[in-house]
Amino acid sequence: MTVSPDSHAPEIGTADNRSRADRAPATTAWHSLSPAEALAAQESGPNGLSEEEAAARLRRYGANRLPRTARAGLLKLYVRQFKSPMVYLLLAATVVSLFVGEWSDALFIFVVLQLNAVIGGLQEWRAETSAAALDKMMRNRVVVLRAGRTREIDAAALVSGDVLRLESGGRVPADLRILSQQELSVDESLLTGESLPLEKDAEATVAAAAPMSERRTLLFAGTTVLTGRARALVVACGNDTQIGRIASVLAQPDQAPPPLIARLEQASRLIGFATLVAIAGLAAVQLAQGVSLITVFLVAVALAVAAIPEGLPVAITVALSIATARMADRNVIVRALPAVEGLGACTLIASDKTGTLTCNELTVKQVLLFDDAGPAVNGAVGGEGYRPQGTIAVEGGAPSQQELAGFNELARSAALCNEAEIEFDGDAVRHLGDTVDVAFLVLAAKLGLDPGGLKATQEELGMIPYEPQRRYAAVFTADAGDPGMGGQGPDGSGGAMVHVKGALEALLPMCDGIDGERALAAAAAMAGQGYRVLAVARGTVSRDAGQRADPGSLRYLRLLGLVGLMDPLRPEVPDALRRCRSAGVSVVMVTGDHPETARVIARELGLGTGDPVVVTGAMLGRAGAGSEAFNDLVRGAEVFARVEPVQKLRIVQALQQSGHLVAVTGDGVNDAPALATADIGVAMGKGGTDVARGAADLILTDDNFASIVAGIEEGRVAYDNVRKLIYLLISTGLGEIVLFLLAIVAGLPLPLFAVQLLWLNLVTNGIQDVALAFEKGEPGVLERRPRLRDESLFDRRMLGQVLTAGGYMGFCAFAFYYWCLARGLPEAEARNLLLLLMVLFENVHAINARSERLSAFARPIMANPFLIMAVLAAQAAHIAALYLPGLSDVLGVRPVSLTDWLLVAALALSLLAVMEIRKLVSARRGSDPGTGR
Ligand code: ADP
Ligand code: MG
Repeated sequence: MTVSPDSHAPEIGTADNRSRADRAPATTAWHSLSPAEALAAQESGPNGLSEEEAAARLRRYGANRLPRTARAGLLKLYVRQFKSPMVYLLLAATVVSLFVGEWSDALFIFVVLQLNAVIGGLQEWRAETSAAALDKMMRNRVVVLRAGRTREIDAAALVSGDVLRLESGGRVPADLRILSQQELSVDESLLTGESLPLEKDAEATVAAAAPMSERRTLLFAGTTVLTGRARALVVACGNDTQIGRIASVLAQPDQAPPPLIARLEQASRLIGFATLVAIAGLAAVQLAQGVSLITVFLVAVALAVAAIPEGLPVAITVALSIATARMADRNVIVRALPAVEGLGACTLIASDKTGTLTCNELTVKQVLLFDDAGPAVNGAVGGEGYRPQGTIAVEGGAPSQQELAGFNELARSAALCNEAEIEFDGDAVRHLGDTVDVAFLVLAAKLGLDPGGLKATQEELGMIPYEPQRRYAAVFTADAGDPGMGGQGPDGSGGAMVHVKGALEALLPMCDGIDGERALAAAAAMAGQGYRVLAVARGTVSRDAGQRADPGSLRYLRLLGLVGLMDPLRPEVPDALRRCRSAGVSVVMVTGDHPETARVIARELGLGTGDPVVVTGAMLGRAGAGSEAFNDLVRGAEVFARVEPVQKLRIVQALQQSGHLVAVTGDGVNDAPALATADIGVAMGKGGTDVARGAADLILTDDNFASIVAGIEEGRVAYDNVRKLIYLLISTGLGEIVLFLLAIVAGLPLPLFAVQLLWLNLVTNGIQDVALAFEKGEPGVLERRPRLRDESLFDRRMLGQVLTAGGYMGFCAFAFYYWCLARGLPEAEARNLLLLLMVLFENVHAINARSERLSAFARPIMANPFLIMAVLAAQAAHIAALYLPGLSDVLGVRPVSLTDWLLVAALALSLLAVMEIRKLVSARRGSDPGTGR
């Protein structure tokens, strides 16, 4: 597969003969050129471009990116804010004010409209900015060949003429001419809508006029590799790719809002409707009382604006995007916003083993050589990490010459049947590829073999790449000079060798003259020590079979031995598992590995009960997916071992059926269905494939199980904060309605004018609401049971606290107003004090809303500086308005004395006391039944 690093860099175009590539029209029929012709036309070679040439092309032609649907700019967002019924109402109010000559009212309403639009626009902008920032973190990485050396780069840095390597699960980063491939099939549904796998072949002959769907020698940007491996030449980048030319197709249709937001939109419509009915009732009473039609209309509009939580969906979107940013800090990238709150309700995590629970830093620790009779020599391998220093010791000390030859033979086959690359540079080790493969290269290096050189001297005829569902890999070489393993094929055509490594169960049927039972027992014993066990075998095949990479030729192989690899456990996992348990989240392990290995690792991590219940893929297969027996097995299991990727989906479905809200991790192509089906699909940022990432809701940038737990914690915090926001907005709205209701029923003059209501709404909600989204978690978020899957946001607790707070605010405000008037204060002065009271009430209530269950002071108030700043800013803005000539006239307010301010503030603070008492009482009564909160 790999081109030897010591071969020469290709002839690359210099400044003056580069013109050919320049002229190459975008319409070149790359599919009908041979690989060699395509390479020549791109002035590239089998070893790729040089770094300098690639850099020059990148400068000249630009990055390999598709045009994005431009992000809405601030101005556009601002304009968008005016498309709302609430704004139409306010505009109507402006017109009416103008009509009756209330110039200052009209101007004020107009200014409020602008401010609302600016605030709303900024909020949406912030939400979109963080989404775009996350987008950036999701960049695709590709493996390119530059001057014969493989390197991993950002797909955006690809240029025409680059040669790259692709494997199953990868997204095709540009339009490519295939140079060579093994078992290559792709999914082109993005381009064609056809979702059947398409086989591709570098050697196929394709007519120049062939339609896209028949261009079997090409890979198109945006499609995905389902199986196999390929080496391919970049022939078109960015806008010049097929998908780039039809980029309009990609311009994402307006995405439906996440369910939580949709539910909220519904709820705010409902609340809005109820408010309108209440307002209509009030208006009728006022009209009957002889208030002028215009005043009634203006107040109704202002009341609607103040009390209807129309800004709620946007505020919640902002809250979720704040949570998203926090999760990103804890290595969880959120691809789908609903997953933020979904994580908080998760009851079960089905986790991969390798890389997620373990470090994915494999090292060969043990090699068990086999002879015809069975296990013969047991070698312990020394050394640390990926460094090539370390020796093999056998029971008697140093191995004999013959034993050493045996170890060499095995290491050699494993290094040939290998897709990884490694370079030792002093103490630094640079490696690329699967960690199992890397570990075998390190073993070879410890035994003094040069892995790179070995590959270069052994011509590779064909290969069967490793795919998880197959559990083995094979490489066919034209191994001529191998001592003792005759190079002649059965047909005398010049033979070939095949080197195979993989699970013993997969290799046994290919091997000859081996006692299967004894071998399996030896593997189980090794697995019982927690080793990941791989078998290595070798044999001769015909050259023809080797070139075809024929799996049918894998017969009469000789089992060379078993290898035990150690993968250290992630140190943070045991604690994360404990936290899951206290949070009421079960964890199961799903692995393709040996049941014994899985059992030992589960036990060491403390996953499940002391001796975990292990269910194997074979047991599930016998039970038959969907059957009762299958479901029972799944429900009882703590570890699933030797499961096939396809079974993962069935496991997830069975778990969901038994009532779990399932988060599942996955990395391969075959995991995509399970990831998509799970309530929360979690993919790996480092180890996972592009396909898995595309199907997931969340991505772990560090592949670490503990990050999922952090995500659950943040998910719960986010959900709590969403509730707090809703609580604050709805209860203050209710307070205003109650005030008006009581005042009008009692026959008092209008408590607040339209402009005053608008001002109240602006300085409180406009400034304060989003600050609640910055609340950090309350103590014990991870000690609660998960919330129920379909728990309503408007549950008993919510209703109770909204009614208490809103009712109390409204009633107090009414009583205060009544008292002011009764004391003989002029109406204007009473309104002045009442408005101050309402602003203070809403300031105080923002503090209340910090927690639904705990005292507002259970967490230091300084823990959320945004909230303090918001409350202070709101109060400061109001006090400023009292003194600002012009504004104070429009608002009908004037400075109040310190004593008055203190009196009003004391009254407002009583709301704090009331709500603290309510929290105490409901804590005494225990958590609300049925909600688990
Ligand atoms: P896990 O669930 O722990 O990630 P995998 O599905 O990756 O396990 O691996 C399952 C089995 O496939 C392993 O036990 C091993 O026998 C085999 N295997 C894994 N990686 C390779 C490889 N690179 N080459 C050959 N066989 C492999
Ligand atoms: Mg794996």
